[in-house]
Order: sequence, then C-alpha cells, then structure tokens
Amino acid sequence: MAQRANKILIIARTTPRDQVRKATEGLSLFYTDFDRSRISATVIPKMGRKAVESNSVFIDNLEVPAEDLVGEEGRGFYYLLEGLNPERVLFAAESVGLGRAALARATAYAKERVVFGRPIGQNQGIAHPLARAWIELEAANLMAFKAAALYDAGRECGAEANASKYLGGEAGFNACEAAVLAHGGMGYAKEYDVERYFRESMIARIAPISREMVFNYISERVLGLAKSY
Ligand SMILES: Cc1cc2nc3c(=O)[nH]c(=O)nc-3n(C[C@H](O)[C@H](O)[C@H](O)COP(=O)(O)OP(=O)(O)OC[C@H]3O[C@@H](n4cnc5c(N)ncnc54)[C@H](O)[C@@H]3O)c2cc1C
Repeated sequence: MAQRANKILIIARTTPRDQVRKATEGLSLFYTDFDRSRISATVIPKMGRKAVESNSVFIDNLEVPAEDLVGEEGRGFYYLLEGLNPERVLFAAESVGLGRAALARATAYAKERVVFGRPIGQNQGIAHPLARAWIELEAANLMAFKAAALYDAGRECGAEANASKYLGGEAGFNACEAAVLAHGGMGYAKEYDVERYFRESMIARIAPISREMVFNYISERVLGLAKSY
C-alpha cells in the first residue's frame, strides 16, 4: 500500500554485525513517516490480490528520528518474529476460505449442469475431485485452528503455523483447480469467478514463505535434520 501510506515500518541494523553475537541481534524497528522525497514506490502489476497493491520500494538517505523507535533498540528482529506465525495461520485460513468458495461454486454447477440427461455431479470423475478438495480443506483448517489455539495460549506454534500454511496453500489451490475443471470451458470464463479464485489461490503457495522454507523449518526444527545449505 506504499502508494497511499503515510507511515512505514522499517527494520534497520543499528549495531554493526561484528559487534553482536548473532545476525538477528542489533536490528531495530522504526515506525516513521513515509517521506516521499526519500522513498520511492513503484507499483508491481500482478495476477491477483489486487485489493492490496504491491510495490517495489527504494529508500535513500532517509533520516529517522529516535522517537520513532519501536520498543527496545537492537530487538527489532524479535518483534517481527512475533508476527510471522500468525501471518502463516492467516494465509492458511485465507486459502481454506478461498478453496471453500471455489468448492461451493463447483458443487452448485455440478448439480445444475445437465449433460446426457443428468447432472454432471453424478459422475464420479466430477464428484471425486470435489470430495477430495473438501477433505483436504477440512484437514488444513484443523491444522490452522491448532496453530491458532497454541498461539493464543502463548505456546510455541512454529511447526503447526508452518504446516498450516503449507496445507492451506495446497488445499486451496487444489480446490480452485478442481472447481475450474468441474466447470469445463466455463471454468475459463470470468463469468463464473472460479478462474479468479484459481489465480488468487497461487498466492498462499508462494507467500509469505515458499513451500521449501516450510520444509526447511520442519526438517530442521521438528525432525532435527541438518541444514541442507
Ligand atoms: C503478492 C505478494 C505480496 C508480497 N508481500 C510481501 C510483503 O508484504 N512483505 C515481504 O517481505 N514480502 C512479501 N512478498 C514476498 C514473498 O514473501 C516472497 O516472494 C516469498 O517468500 C518467496 O520468496 P522469493 O520470492 O525470494 O522466492 P525464492 O525463495 O527465490 O524462490 C524461487 C523459487 O524457488 C523455489 N525454491 C526456493 N527454495 C528452494 C529449495 N530449497 N529447493 C527447491 N526449490 C526452492 C521456490 O518455491 C520458488 O519456486 C510478497 C509476495 C507476493 C507475491
């Protein structure tokens, strides 16, 4: 939203790397004015998520007053971490919701569209992908609720939050794909909305982290396997 934002949240290194133990230390968070004489923002045209514009942002010689510091100096990265797990759960929930919307459209169409004298939903070739989509969406939703419950209880939820993001992303995408296919040629038409859902469902597979980063987290933190890089 950089085209209209008044404020920007910035993380910057305030203690040089060689003076801290870990790279995650010595970074500070600032909530400061979006000074357009020092910050440029260019819209990135994209395939979906158009309700929120995305920008490529360049910051040059921006001076930030000390009073714009958030919390304690040098702890910025740890404050950001607080938001990462809920963001993953959010993406899982978003994707499950999108998948459910697509599934509802596909189910309605499969009941209404009659070919060779009967609704196409009576064919298992149409019905089974939709049934599988329901199963996957419900499972992803349970994992998202598990992660959210752990987070709300103030407990560690990294594994579950990452897993829910992965499961939600895949389940949402599969449901949207099944919905497009169940509509046949009409699935490609804008009129039925499922092509839009299908495009939107890509986002939870890419952001806020790639699937591979989820696998890294699970393999390293849960399974105790060595880093692969
Ligand atoms: C609409 C949108 C909004 C966004 N908003 C924000 C935002 O507000 N703030 C922000 O910080 N970021 C934002 N992002 C960025 C997003 O978090 C990243 O695009 C995402 O984490 C993927 O990282 P990357 O683009 O660097 O891809 P990369 O990590 O470079 O991945 C490129 C490709 O390689 C694959 N890959 C990566 N690692 C491996 C591996 N080990 N093995 C095999 N394949 C691998 C990936 O799956 C992908 O296909 C946004 C992205 C989008 C699309």
